[in-house]
Amino acid sequence: MRELVGTCESCGKDVFCLDGFLNGVSEAGRLECFECADGEKGTVHPQDKGKSE
Ligand SMILES: [Zn+2]
Repeated sequence: MRELVGTCESCGKDVFCLDGFLNGVSEAGRLECFECADGEKGTVHPQDKGKSE
């Protein structure tokens, strides 16, 4: 099953949800594809929280 979730706010690419797996990143109300989310500095991954200090 493939569902169109929206478009990447950085590059305008379509972001889909594939079998419940989001083909991108939705954060703070912004939707981005993996490529743009990867290139963005300052993004904190949940699993990294609390370990950097
Ligand atoms: Zn993008």
